[in-house]
Amino acid sequence: MSAWVEELSARGYKITPQRRLILDILSSTQRHLTAEEIGLRVREIEPSISLATVYRNLNLLLELDMVCRLDIPDAPVRYGLHNGHNHHLVCVNCGTAVQLGVCPMQGEIKRIVEESGFEVNSHHFEIMGYCPECSEKRKLQQKPAGKGGTGVED
Ligand SMILES: [Zn+2]
Ligand SMILES: [Zn+2]
Repeated sequence: MSAWVEELSARGYKITPQRRLILDILSSTQRHLTAEEIGLRVREIEPSISLATVYRNLNLLLELDMVCRLDIPDAPVRYGLHNGHNHHLVCVNCGTAVQLGVCPMQGEIKRIVEESGFEVNSHHFEIMGYCPECSEKRKLQQKPAGKGGTGVED
């Protein structure tokens, strides 16, 4: 918890209660949260903090690379703690992010990149889909009605 406190102050930023709260909230969950979810949680703890303040601080933390954003097609942007170099399996429904623990930037990919002559300064690799929980919910929802079942629906 003190790591980002140090990081913020090392960069000349104050550890305001709002910033600390946002980082605490993001670190207490495996999920990537939408700005709205972060705002709601902040205000649950500290109702005096306005949503505008939350969003402004979120953007600052993003600029400082302490928070990362996840753009999911057709869904609100989600935010998570930026823990250095990581790749994730991301649930597009609830934002759960599971660390992969491996980096694909190796072996054949690394070789191709090197041969391309590109000077690489960053790379992104996330696998999007549905976590087991959301996947299960989806299956239940999609179950075709009546096919071979005993349940009667009309
Ligand atoms: Zn999920
Ligand atoms: Zn990597």
